[in-house]
Amino acid sequence: MNASALPIVRSVTDLRESVRDLRKDGAKIGMVPTMGALHEGHLTLVRHVLDKGMRAVVSIFVNPTQFGPNEDYSKYPRQEAEDAAKLKAAGANLLFAPGVTDMYADGFSTAITVSGVSEGLCGAFRPGHFQGVATVVAKLLLQCQPDYAVFGEKDYQQLQVIKRMVKDIDIPVEIGGFPTVREADGLAMSSRNAYLSADERKAAPVLHKTLTEIAQGLADGAEAGPLLEKGRAAILAAGFKSIDYLEACDADNLKPISRLERPGRILVAARLGQARLIDNIAALPKR
Ligand code: AMP
Repeated sequence: MNASALPIVRSVTDLRESVRDLRKDGAKIGMVPTMGALHEGHLTLVRHVLDKGMRAVVSIFVNPTQFGPNEDYSKYPRQEAEDAAKLKAAGANLLFAPGVTDMYADGFSTAITVSGVSEGLCGAFRPGHFQGVATVVAKLLLQCQPDYAVFGEKDYQQLQVIKRMVKDIDIPVEIGGFPTVREADGLAMSSRNAYLSADERKAAPVLHKTLTEIAQGLADGAEAGPLLEKGRAAILAAGFKSIDYLEACDADNLKPISRLERPGRILVAARLGQARLIDNIAALPKR
């Protein structure tokens, strides 16, 4: 192996041994779980861990159990060598990149279900998705045993599901949420943006623009219903094929709200060409 390359481990035994080495001088471990096809959003999470004075362990695993039968598991971009080079440049300390059979040995039979917060929004449109996410994240956290693990607010419902799970089953790790990293025109960075044609890419920022307008309207005291109706029309008019959901919710329990009385979250999932894009934004009441 190239001496200056990022160390890559694939088995839990090797991961634990490398993590033990990284801890030798008393350093803490921060984990960044990903599915690869890394962009600036992921790398910002890595730098955030390093800024906290921790060693950064990144995992790349395209988890089959969180994809539905008609979803993009087989075409999800896989580019490990490029990802490893980006991680090295960002200062990451270790890459954990297990294979599917490393994660799910013959006879694997366990699943973690988080009720409540995982039920609406993406949970309603992607049956089994959050069970796949919760199970694989629990495994990754127990395999690596980091002090801290960070997840992007880009996947806001996922972040709430993971916080709930870690609390409920007492996984000894601190979970951090990190604000969404965006392109200059407001589009949330996502590995799935690679599916967009040039014209679709131009249309995509309507999502963030619409969320911003709805958050502003709610903060001004307007009712959610008409704002969401107008927002749906704007997204479809920009060229999106369909909208799975556009909802105004309570920021903590993700239940729908009709007015902003405490911190809220506006969340959207919509289809543009081959891509299903998600985004969300905070809506804060004026004091
Ligand atoms: P993924 O590889 O899409 O599963 O994402 C891995 C982690 O990076 C998750 O915690 C995501 O929420 C986070 N992430 C993805 N895109 C962004 C972004 N644009 N800004 C911040 N975090 C992100």
